[in-house]
Amino acid sequence: MHTNSHVNPVIVASENGRAGALAAMELLRRGGSAMDAAEMAARVTEDDPDEHSVGFSGIPNLLGQVELDASLMNGRTLETGAVAGVQDYANVISLARKVMEELPHVLLVGRGAERLAAEIGQRPADQRTVESLERWRARFAEKGVDLTGMELRHLVARLTIPMHLQDKVPHGTVNYLVRDSHGDLASAVSTSGLGWKYPGRVGDSPIIGAGNYCDNRYGAAACTGSGELAIRVSTARSLILYMKMGMNLAAAGQECLAEIEQLSPQPGQYMNIVAMTPDGEHMAFSTEDDKRYLYYTGEMTEPALGERATTG
Ligand code: ASP
Repeated sequence: MHTNSHVNPVIVASENGRAGALAAMELLRRGGSAMDAAEMAARVTEDDPDEHSVGFSGIPNLLGQVELDASLMNGRTLETGAVAGVQDYANVISLARKVMEELPHVLLVGRGAERLAAEIGQRPADQRTVESLERWRARFAEKGVDLTGMELRHLVARLTIPMHLQDKVPHGTVNYLVRDSHGDLASAVSTSGLGWKYPGRVGDSPIIGAGNYCDNRYGAAACTGSGELAIRVSTARSLILYMKMGMNLAAAGQECLAEIEQLSPQPGQYMNIVAMTPDGEHMAFSTEDDKRYLYYTGEMTEPALGERATTG
């Protein structure tokens, strides 16, 4: 539903989306498209060396390698592109867009995605930093684990999946939901995934319907948190579907939280959702208390933080 009317641009993001939102709003104010703004916002976050859960300097897997996942979706056409388990290339959000625009596919993983990156002229670059490797080593030292001769599957319970709330695995991902001045919606998600994951583990972020979904007619939603939960109940698409079937935004988000709770998450597992309607109404939800999200509309001078609704 593309119109020429001028509506107020809106960006909704996870709390770590400030720098990307500032850059993307500039683009939207100049008439840029939601897709371009969502991609640009995610790129800014991917390039930030101080953001340790997205792009460059992301959290390594159990082997000390940074494996990146990303997806984006066009709400007007329902076209989407995604990549997963990408090593040694930056800006996986742009790679996801190339999958969407240049291939008759939706999702590329690992070697194939890296091959496409090389074909389109991305230069390989180590996505680890000294700091990310130090964090990786420290995680083993903290748990007294010697990797030599260990089968990785035995490490997942000790290092990857948090068994106590005090022992949280580093999480993080960036979500951007964008409405442009034509009223078109787009969504982008980028992450290095769960910290200390088993190599090849893929979370919800590049799984369309789980960690990301966008449809001009009903709205957009994206997730951060324990991706396994969102995959099991298709959280992002479910929220949009509930609105399609007539629920309001608050009720749709609460229904998604209830579905997550029904999975009996392990201690330390949690889920956050950001969502927006075609009218630019926005809300965010979390299975945890005191979580926030970021929003920025065309008439605001800078982004603001809002509280995420919790269950009950
Ligand atoms: N949802 C991401 C994943 O499971 C990680 C995160 O948001 O913390 O890969």
